[in-house]
Amino acid sequence: MDVALAKLLVGLAVKISRSDGRVHSATVKSVDATKCTVHVEWTEKNITKGKEIEIGEMCNLNTDLIQYLQTSRPVASTSSTAPAPKAEKKSELPSRASKIPAPPERHRRMTTRQTCLFRPTAEDAHGQDLPSSAVPRPSGLQKKQSVKMPSSLLPVSESASDSESGKVAAVPTANQGISRVPEVNKVNKRLSVSTKISETQVKKGKYGDMNRPNKQFYQMIEEYRETLEKVPLSLTDPVELHRICVCVRKRPLNKKEVTRKEIDVVTVPGKGVLLFHEPKQKVDLTKYLDNQLFHFDYSFDESSTNDLVYRFTAKPLVKTIFEGGRATCFAYGQTGSGKTHTMGGDFSGKAQDSSKGVYSLAAHDVFNLLQQRRYADMDLSPYVTFFEIYNGKVFDLLNKKTKLRVLEDEGQQVQVVGLQEVPVSSVDDVIRLIEKGSACRTSGQTFANTNSSRSHAVLQVILRHGKQLHGKFSLVDLAGNERGTDVSSNDRKTMVETAEINRSLLALKECIRSLGQNSEHIPFRMSKLTQVLRDSFIGENSRTCMCF
Ligand code: ADP
Ligand code: MG
Repeated sequence: MDVALAKLLVGLAVKISRSDGRVHSATVKSVDATKCTVHVEWTEKNITKGKEIEIGEMCNLNTDLIQYLQTSRPVASTSSTAPAPKAEKKSELPSRASKIPAPPERHRRMTTRQTCLFRPTAEDAHGQDLPSSAVPRPSGLQKKQSVKMPSSLLPVSESASDSESGKVAAVPTANQGISRVPEVNKVNKRLSVSTKISETQVKKGKYGDMNRPNKQFYQMIEEYRETLEKVPLSLTDPVELHRICVCVRKRPLNKKEVTRKEIDVVTVPGKGVLLFHEPKQKVDLTKYLDNQLFHFDYSFDESSTNDLVYRFTAKPLVKTIFEGGRATCFAYGQTGSGKTHTMGGDFSGKAQDSSKGVYSLAAHDVFNLLQQRRYADMDLSPYVTFFEIYNGKVFDLLNKKTKLRVLEDEGQQVQVVGLQEVPVSSVDDVIRLIEKGSACRTSGQTFANTNSSRSHAVLQVILRHGKQLHGKFSLVDLAGNERGTDVSSNDRKTMVETAEINRSLLALKECIRSLGQNSEHIPFRMSKLTQVLRDSFIGENSRTCMCF
């Protein structure tokens, strides 16, 4: 491989081999023509590491990529990285007057319960493709020749799935392609974004700091956003009642992401819509955005407060438990995506403010309704349980993490034997229990978030009439759904944990899917999580809300 070809690797993800035998991905940063080496970098436990690798060794490990580069190398006189002329580039963007692209008729007829309704093609989203004359054409390629780009060719630093970014797995990866995952999975991505970044950056120039990495994509996204009409949800908007409600909340970029100048790849224009701007590169290295549109029952942008999220997600379910039903509200997403922030409370102060989470907001409404005359006569007493499911085992967070057994009684009711149900008489009582239980939760060290929660936490507010169960509200802060590759520690314990988490999330997805289809069979036995929540999945009067 010649040095000129090696230079085409700069910015791309390649496989490297480590002295301990591991082979993993790294980004090519530079090429040393005199030493015939490439410098690669990767992140491990939040530390950026690098090494020099001989070009020959690089070739041996990345044959498909090298082969691709050899066949698609631009002719000598054209620069492979030269940007397309501005006028043509504009043609990739929607016209300024356009709003969110209207779904094709066949999709509009689908119900919101089908969570991800459609994914426009690149043409739908961008209008016409670039004219062939606008970009340098690789010498080895004919226009119609179809060449499958090796997944490793996707530039790590420019892919929204940059596994070094810390937010990563939440975002659908370029190589995964959202459309290829099963339906409910299509929305199992919690996406991190901020408009704040653009506001501050705008002061420095039209599209911000032009020295930022990936500025071309940044600019494309900003230009696309300018064409959208935003109608964010507000506290005065009407709330619809659903048996299953599926929502998405976007969190702002965190400090680390802002420092790294990561790109905000998600826009929530409102009306239940979320747009994911997937940075992509054509085989001729032209960059373009694949703007994918997702529909939810509600979508919350990065400025949404827990109050707003609560109003549309858990609040409508509170009444259900007074009517003798079961309600369940899940926070689903990658580690670091804001599940605990949403459920347990705001982290903006020194410590988590448990009074500002969905748990306590729900407790607040339970006590409010208990005071109302129509329910006061029912003689209902509230209790709280708080437990976690870690590696398929149940631990009581209100009783020194005692390990509990899950059994089915003769009436096929699933019982968590010995789980403490603590009587409560005020919201403050509940907040104290939330704080006690949260302090107990199991955390481990993952790549995506150093304080990641590796367990599902379930807070239940139970209403009893005497000893008899009347209603139950389960609020579940699920464990993060990292992909195996996002967990930097590859020790056995972490791998087993990750596998177990993913297994239970898959089981949950299957149960929700069956519920959505009014299926006779709900596979709740697939995991401890779904087994414990069995009574929330069955029965006429059960309602579920899933917040991604
Ligand atoms: P998870 O429980 O999904 O792993 P966390 O709730 O712990 O994630 O959130 C990770 C970090 O992101 C926390 O520091 C939290 O304060 C911050 N965060 C999450 N969501 C938001 C949000 N909507 N607004 C502000 N900060 C947020
Ligand atoms: Mg958490």
